[in-house]
Amino acid sequence: MTAAPPPEVLRAPLVVEFPFTRSLGPVQGAFLTALRERTVLGVRTSDGRVLVPPVEYDPVDSAELRDLVEVAPTGTVTTWAWNPDPRPQQPLPTPFAWVLVRLDGADTALLHVLDVPAPDTVRTGMRVRIRWAGERSGAITDIACFEPHDGHDGTEAARPGPYSAGFPDPVTGIVVPARLDYTYSPGRAQTAYIKALGDRKTVGERCPSCRKVYVPPRGACPTCGVATGEQVEVGPRGTVTTFCIVNIKAKNLDIEVPYVYAHIALDGAGLALHGRIGGIPYDQVRMGLRVEPVWTEGGRFPDHYRPTGEPDADYDAYKELL
Ligand SMILES: [Zn+2]
Repeated sequence: MTAAPPPEVLRAPLVVEFPFTRSLGPVQGAFLTALRERTVLGVRTSDGRVLVPPVEYDPVDSAELRDLVEVAPTGTVTTWAWNPDPRPQQPLPTPFAWVLVRLDGADTALLHVLDVPAPDTVRTGMRVRIRWAGERSGAITDIACFEPHDGHDGTEAARPGPYSAGFPDPVTGIVVPARLDYTYSPGRAQTAYIKALGDRKTVGERCPSCRKVYVPPRGACPTCGVATGEQVEVGPRGTVTTFCIVNIKAKNLDIEVPYVYAHIALDGAGLALHGRIGGIPYDQVRMGLRVEPVWTEGGRFPDHYRPTGEPDADYDAYKELL
């Protein structure tokens, strides 16, 4: 006898991405404005240290820091790590070293990248200088990278210069694209759930111990701590257990507000899933409303749920599912 082959588990790329907008304040704003003008600013603390990149408050005594100073575009690598396989949107497309660089005139080090061909060409203590980006906008990437520097040892530049002039058109805010790339696998239980949705069926899994039917199934009962394996088709009809009225229009979502988003306990399910309610004015949706799924052509899950016309469910029938 041979065992059945394990069911194929789904995998798919998943990208979580959003633009993060932040204001900069007087110190970070000056720092990024200066980078745009090919100048690096630090900030001097009350005991005379120069912090690069500058911060608004002294990390030792929390004093407000506003004494900006100019430091050199040359510096010394204080430590490094080799990156053999750059990811998309990292500063360089070819293998490079992440480096901490203490710029001449600074007492702290700046994290950036060093453009060298191989790890045996990097060492702590090596001299480097900034390679400026051709187009600069007021961002840390205005420093394209660091590169090896064989020139002067920088002693004449080691004393930070005063900075008071300021630059016109200061940078006051930045938009940082936050992005996470995954290869996501939903696991055995949710693979079965997703495949059943392809046939417009909703399939949960029953706990062998407490008999609760989980929809969507996660593969285990969190209460009993045992694996769930028995597949149970639920629905398609269900009961609204609770709901909210959405008044804020979501970007990239073509649904007119206000609309209702509800918890729906499908018949036979031991907990509620959520979905949008349509086909009824938003202010007539209520707990106990009986609903059924509405599919659109090519949809991979119900577009929304609409009233079935049945009498409302008794509260006792769903009070454990709220
Ligand atoms: Zn259980």
